[in-house]
Amino acid sequence: MFKNVLNQIKKAERYLKPPAALINQLIKPQRILKSNLTLLKDNGRTVTFLAYRVQFNNARGPFKGGVRYHPQVGLDEIEALALLMAIKCAVVDLPMGGAKGGIKVDPKKLSRPELEKLSRAWVKSFFKHLGPEKDVPAPDVYTNEQIMAWMLDEFEKLTGEKSPAFITGKPVRLGGSQGRDTATAQGAYYVLEAVLKRIKYKNKRPTAVIQGFGNAGYHISQLLYQNGFKLIAASDSQGGIYDLRKKGMNPEALMETKQENGLFAGCYCSHSVCDCGNYKKITNQQLLGLETDVLILAALENQITAKNASVVKAKIILEIANGPVTQEADAILKQKGVLVIPDVLANAGGVTVSYFEWLQNKRNQSWSKEQVFRQLKNKMSIGLKQVWLVSQSYKVDLRTAAFILAVGRIVEAMKKKGRI
Ligand code: NAD
Repeated sequence: MFKNVLNQIKKAERYLKPPAALINQLIKPQRILKSNLTLLKDNGRTVTFLAYRVQFNNARGPFKGGVRYHPQVGLDEIEALALLMAIKCAVVDLPMGGAKGGIKVDPKKLSRPELEKLSRAWVKSFFKHLGPEKDVPAPDVYTNEQIMAWMLDEFEKLTGEKSPAFITGKPVRLGGSQGRDTATAQGAYYVLEAVLKRIKYKNKRPTAVIQGFGNAGYHISQLLYQNGFKLIAASDSQGGIYDLRKKGMNPEALMETKQENGLFAGCYCSHSVCDCGNYKKITNQQLLGLETDVLILAALENQITAKNASVVKAKIILEIANGPVTQEADAILKQKGVLVIPDVLANAGGVTVSYFEWLQNKRNQSWSKEQVFRQLKNKMSIGLKQVWLVSQSYKVDLRTAAFILAVGRIVEAMKKKGRI
């Protein structure tokens, strides 16, 4: 992923022609924090875990990014995600830089008290470089609002000050924002809606196929359903279900089906009445090749590659996952006339509402969900409009345009601050 992001930045550089020294600064993290966290387990034994925080470019504002707990966390991945975050914030014009953190741990193997101690230890290790005006963490893979609450408490104990703006994604009662849990899907939906309007898409009831039926995939499927799209296929890590008649499935029933039988069972159930004749079990590879108006990638990175890009029959791809289409696949999809709405724009709704949370905390305000989504729609629509204009004036695809816009904004801030 890091290589892909660097290549995109290099591509943007060819159009922008900024001083090389600035690009060399931009592609290197400003700070890499690494620590060994020693945890006293419930059974009296001690275990040590590697922990990270990578901070990428704060020319436009404080660093901002999630903290993930996963056994495969490594510096390369954290660096790539931190750089991607800096780009994402700049695409939707948030006054923030990029960061990412993590602990190499399997959180499912820890008890609740152990998880709390480890989360507090992460803050203790890095707190001198964190804070509302320095670096603002948030949830990511296997971290949640409870972990954010423990981290906030630890930070306030260490600094002796109340600072809810130190962290986002915390519980609403502690200053969290309404709408944070569905913000990524909501933002992606606003972008898709604006794209369809821009290209004057004729089909009033477009079909949609979704890879990944987790938080983002499930929430966007609800929005699509409510807005007249026909959800004809969906999948999770075990495989998927295809609606042979293309009548469209209700995501609530699909979730019920998934919880009872797994999506891959090939039956569509509503209130324990199951239809197994008009629906088919499919693999994830088959799902990617279905004929559809929109294909939504909401699972993992590297799903469409040079190997399978030629089978894609979707007209539009919406990237909610980070890096689901490789660079080689991008070129093939372009030749086939598939319109790809890139991750750095499509999934920026999450960090945008995180920014709104930070803003509310700093201003001592509490916005309603309607207010949050109104502001989100505004931000996402402006982001899409600006990416679209750059794409037209440079005659490039939306991903390249998003990078040109973001790199241009970061480099301008670096120049104005005299960081050469
Ligand atoms: P999640 O863990 O809730 O859901 C992921 C889903 O993908 C699950 O249904 C899982 O079964 C499925 N999946 C895993 N491997 C698969 C495979 N090989 N094929 C098909 N499905 C597979 O995660 P999420 O929060 O919904 O995030 C989804 C993606 O969007 C991730 O890549 C994440 O990094 C990205 N993203 C999420 C947010 C957010 O706020 N949730 C923000 C930005 C980016």
